Amino acid sequence: MDQQVKYLLQESEMPRSWYNVIPDLPAPPPPPLHPGTREPVGPDALAPLFPMALIEQEVSAERYIPIPEPVLDVYRLWRPTPLLRARRLEQALGTPARIYYKYEGTSPAGSHKPNTAVPQAYYNAAEGVKKLTTETGAGQWGSALAFASAVFGLECEVWQVRASYDQKPYRRLLMEAYGAKVHPSPSGLTNSGRAVLAEHPDSTGSLGIAISEAVEMAAGDPATRYSLGSVLNHVLMHQTVIGEEAIKQLAQAGDTPDLIVGCTGGGSNFSGLVFPFLREKLAGRMNPVLRAVEPAACPSFTRGVYTYDFGDTAGLTPLLKMHTLGHDFVPDPIHAGGLRYHGMSPLLSHIYELGLIEAVAKPQSECFAAGLQFARAEGILPAPEPTHAIAACIEEALRCKETGEEKVILTAVCGHGLLDLSAYGSYQAGQVVDFELPMEAVRDALSRLPASV
Ligand SMILES: *Cc1c(COP(=O)(O)O)cnc(C)c1O
Repeated sequence: MDQQVKYLLQESEMPRSWYNVIPDLPAPPPPPLHPGTREPVGPDALAPLFPMALIEQEVSAERYIPIPEPVLDVYRLWRPTPLLRARRLEQALGTPARIYYKYEGTSPAGSHKPNTAVPQAYYNAAEGVKKLTTETGAGQWGSALAFASAVFGLECEVWQVRASYDQKPYRRLLMEAYGAKVHPSPSGLTNSGRAVLAEHPDSTGSLGIAISEAVEMAAGDPATRYSLGSVLNHVLMHQTVIGEEAIKQLAQAGDTPDLIVGCTGGGSNFSGLVFPFLREKLAGRMNPVLRAVEPAACPSFTRGVYTYDFGDTAGLTPLLKMHTLGHDFVPDPIHAGGLRYHGMSPLLSHIYELGLIEAVAKPQSECFAAGLQFARAEGILPAPEPTHAIAACIEEALRCKETGEEKVILTAVCGHGLLDLSAYGSYQAGQVVDFELPMEAVRDALSRLPASV
């Protein structure tokens, strides 16, 4: 145990730009379409929902976007984040593989989400916006945006998926501590929420429904904008600070990755870790396999279809070409609330179609077991979402044990699980079930896709 386990960067080595992968791809991603005309939506159509600076980033062809100084100044509260070598986990597994993890749980909200919440709040405040609305699943995104809104003097109103609102009271309390207002979704406050409640009074909610509610509220008020914690190009781009730092830290360790693994809900932490490495791969400087891990109960890559669909349940957003289970698909209430989204980032979906990344699905019991094994070796209790990536790392490390391969594996522990203890408690009490997603449920939701373009 005499080898180095922790790779730190100086503040001066923090990335000064976000990386936009689009100009480096062999083909551009398909554009969002207007649901009525089926024509590509122009930036103007997004103006009621987002500030101009973020719309420009969403459609930018620039490879690098400078990070504004006031954003860097807030990033300095917790960035650069550490890269750690999981030596005790390697020993426990008896693997010759070298496992590294980028730990994003050191942020104020405890996950990677503030990497985008901070710039989003900053650009909105700079353009005179007074209030942000958003959805949240487990509450990670809501607490990140509540924190960032407090820093830049914005009001923040959050629709939290009912299942998580009930299961995870501490995340709601954290949002409220930062000054946000939190509603369970579906709520009686919006047309979208009332429509769902009329049909399913006991609805446990979904991210798709909560997005509809937050979008509806923002669209109805000129001083309010909407903020999304994943899926969109600008969100993925803000997260590339993770991968840019990891490249420098792995170089310190003298290693290049053979395999990079991340969990995917909407795709933002995975993309943030992977895109800078994909740039290196496309330039021929390294050749890692890039593997996304999704929950078996919400498998948009591995069982969804690649087509144009709405980003929300009520159909208020533009049509996005993505891997989707259907916009009114309501996933079973698994504990990894941040992975319960019916679709996948259109940009990451496009990259998957190009064959540049691969995807696997994992049942939650295997993930909780992996999370506990990780905690007992490394000390950090991961959030339920990154346990999906950890389970895939362990699987690969055990494969290496059989073959004797000294693979270099990199992952992101994108959040800690200290506000998810009730989920671990359920698992340890034997109460966590693996939902077998019936083909019927998928076929049913897919039957209500918008007519194909
Ligand atoms: C939100 C969240 C996710 C899922 O979102 P991505 O955009 O796919 O990263 C995963 N892990 C944690 C800890 C989250 O908070």
